[in-house]
Amino acid sequence: MRFHAEAQRRQEGEEGRKKRLVLLNPPGRKVYLRDYFCSKVSQADYIHHPIDLVFLSGYLKEDYELELVDAIVDKLNPAQCLQRIERIGPQVVVGLIGSVSYDEDVPFYRQLAEAIPAARLFLVGDVLIERRRQRLAEMPFVEGFVHDFSSADLLGHLRGDSKVRNLTLRRQGVVEALPLERPRGQAFRLPRPEHRLFVDRPYRYPFVRRSRFATVMTDFGCPYRCSFCVMSTLGWKQRPVGDVLDELQDLGRMGVRELFFLDQTFGIPRSRCLELLAGMRQLADRFGWVCFSRPDLLDDALLSQMKSAGCHTLILGLESGSQQLLDSVCKEARKEEVLQGFRRCSSYGMRTVATVLLGLPRETEETFQQTLEFLRQADPDFASFNVAVPRAGTPFREEALKLGLIDEDFEVMDQSGNPVAMPTLTLSRGQVAALRRRAVRGFYGRPGYWRKRLTRWVRHDGALLSDLRIQLQQGYRLLCNYLAS
Ligand code: SF4
Repeated sequence: MRFHAEAQRRQEGEEGRKKRLVLLNPPGRKVYLRDYFCSKVSQADYIHHPIDLVFLSGYLKEDYELELVDAIVDKLNPAQCLQRIERIGPQVVVGLIGSVSYDEDVPFYRQLAEAIPAARLFLVGDVLIERRRQRLAEMPFVEGFVHDFSSADLLGHLRGDSKVRNLTLRRQGVVEALPLERPRGQAFRLPRPEHRLFVDRPYRYPFVRRSRFATVMTDFGCPYRCSFCVMSTLGWKQRPVGDVLDELQDLGRMGVRELFFLDQTFGIPRSRCLELLAGMRQLADRFGWVCFSRPDLLDDALLSQMKSAGCHTLILGLESGSQQLLDSVCKEARKEEVLQGFRRCSSYGMRTVATVLLGLPRETEETFQQTLEFLRQADPDFASFNVAVPRAGTPFREEALKLGLIDEDFEVMDQSGNPVAMPTLTLSRGQVAALRRRAVRGFYGRPGYWRKRLTRWVRHDGALLSDLRIQLQQGYRLLCNYLAS
């Protein structure tokens, strides 16, 4: 009788609770970043908060008790990860999947579905962009794919709304590819993300200056048209400044003082950006932060406002030293403007990170030398060397197919070049890999580079010990990866 009453009480307790939903970054043999439709292997050891899951947490917390399982960050193997999820016993799992780890992810999700057959499973990731219907048909254990994590569509579907979009769904056994929206600059509102799930986990990023940080995004997609970049295919929409400031205020109350703005091009539109910066200066808490932007956008007025609102580091696309190559991928940037942008940032005492793109179809030894020279002139504090990858859904993929550089079914790819995704018209994959290694060695192996970094850290970076520790850790991992390659 007593047991019966206890069971009844437990059942009543369960009924009173919200259903459980697991936000999942699955395990992997390498440090994979699978978020924002742009999966890759971490070039050092960094892994920032998966923005897809951060955004979705804002919507899903309304109906579900959320748990985050990040097997990469928590270093869980597949068995440990399955055990952890089984213990939680979720009704729904929303997981990341990536083209870079596809061969590991699909078998893992199959195992997960066998372990908790009653859970509804949804996936989000770059590899799902093409062949949506066929791919979902090939994964009968998955209920649907999410193609816009900034929208409320998944929550709508879970609530039984039949008029949702931006999903691929299995409904009554039939696979449906629902229409995708590609916004053109309009506003969208995002319920406040559940940052508490993320900020105290051991996420790490080389360009933040404190180990405890939050990843925030004020828009979605990008209005530029760079043909190699998946962001150019997503459309572009923006959050109201007031919503972002409210979110920052909450983070301040949680004791967070460091931010990674994951906007792909921070600074557009200019008026909204200036309003945000002015609002940030009024907040009770000051933040240090890093963001992505374009060097050609950064004039003196904008940079001085960014600096006074706490920006210390800018990650900027340098891409190539060949104007012809820049034009071939619709970068819409003149080399002179790029150079001026880098120099202007340095003159404001802000650190710069140049992203370099090697191995475009018309790359040659000569264009490679031009890039090295251009990089020397821009003189960034850090450089990230990527190789061109034919990402799903991009015009660049179509071009690579047309030029015969890849096959139709080519999917597993990694911009860190391990292995190189495709040859150029004149260079083999091995030659592109060798160029990348030379570029890394030439940049970080320069006599005086590390002395300059240390001097700069003491003079300009405020000599934060946490900053030095982060840089040394990531520098060490970069060196290990370089030697391993
Ligand atoms: S500006 Fe940057 S994020 Fe935007 S499409 Fe070009 S490369 Fe991508």
